[in-house]
Amino acid sequence: MPRVYNFSAGPGTLPEEVLLQAAEEMLDWHGTGQSVMEMSHRGKDFISIAEKAEADLRKLLGIPASHHLLFLQGGASLQFEMIPMNLIQGRAVADYINTGEWAKKAINAAGSLADVNLAASAEDRAFTYVPAQLDWQLSERAAYVHYTANETINGVEFGWVPDVGEVPLVSDMSSNLLSRPLDVGRFGLIYAGAQKNIGPAGLALVIVREDLIGIGEPRPPAMLDYATHVKAGSMYNTPPTYAVYVAGLVFQWLLETGGLAAAEQRNIAKAELLYDFIDGSEFYLNPVEKPDRSRMNIPFRLSNPDLEAEFLTGAAKNDLVELKGHRSVGGMRASLYNAMPIEGVQALVDYMAEFAATKG
Ligand SMILES: *Cc1c(COP(=O)(O)O)cnc(C)c1O
Repeated sequence: MPRVYNFSAGPGTLPEEVLLQAAEEMLDWHGTGQSVMEMSHRGKDFISIAEKAEADLRKLLGIPASHHLLFLQGGASLQFEMIPMNLIQGRAVADYINTGEWAKKAINAAGSLADVNLAASAEDRAFTYVPAQLDWQLSERAAYVHYTANETINGVEFGWVPDVGEVPLVSDMSSNLLSRPLDVGRFGLIYAGAQKNIGPAGLALVIVREDLIGIGEPRPPAMLDYATHVKAGSMYNTPPTYAVYVAGLVFQWLLETGGLAAAEQRNIAKAELLYDFIDGSEFYLNPVEKPDRSRMNIPFRLSNPDLEAEFLTGAAKNDLVELKGHRSVGGMRASLYNAMPIEGVQALVDYMAEFAATKG
């Protein structure tokens, strides 16, 4: 069977070149006679894989020396809890911006560990926009400001980086990290589960500024303390070795294809192709305000919701899969991560046009 175009929001599609290289190296990595899966995480072969992954990601994102890069487990969801545990001292307040389903999860998780100030919310208009920074009600002395850079479910993305002065800026970039260049130096902490735009599930990336390490009060348990993982170079316990290896192949692929500026240009072209088609059609609708639309996750509705099941069945017959929207919002969703080629988006648009012509 040929490969399908996989529009899943996560785990998401990976570059075919990366999968082919992983397949080629499956039984024998670089003449070691072993799969990466079977290697000791403390042996020199795996150490070289992890070091190259770190160096390549640092190069891609231009991560400054002031920031540590951690390869952790527990997904982005564990970070919802580790962030307040590590950054809050005593009864300090943390500011959160509520832009959708994932922001709400982060807020709920922090609620039992910190005094959360909801500084802004887009719930009044069903999470179809990013609240302008002028309207944020930030606290006097927040321990940090948290926002969700891309709402994977609602299809809302920050096209800008908030300016919060000296307060550490913390961002969940699970579904848009590596989709565009980023000024990492402006952030106190960035985190992302790998399975959206980076690599296999099981790995989470945390980029954290040195001065935010070891300040949480009370001190978190060792496994949940960034200081532990910084000190151990992300090898306090067995890291998700195979996921680190595949993510490393993705970093290498991004470097070889022109880095993040080139990835951004490809992502703009793909997103425009789909949004322009949706906006030009009476049959499909995307409710998000144009400047705040996500390039990565594009939710859309059919003017006649009764046709949704038929739309999905027909799409699958055309090798266009995982287009069903998240259960919490319904409708359709096309995720256009870095590894989705523009040919996949064109095939989707062609199918959508044909479906609308016959059913509209
Ligand atoms: C998927 C996702 C999460 C949760 O990730 P897990 O790795 O499943 O914990 C959190 N935030 C955003 C923006 C996501 O897209």
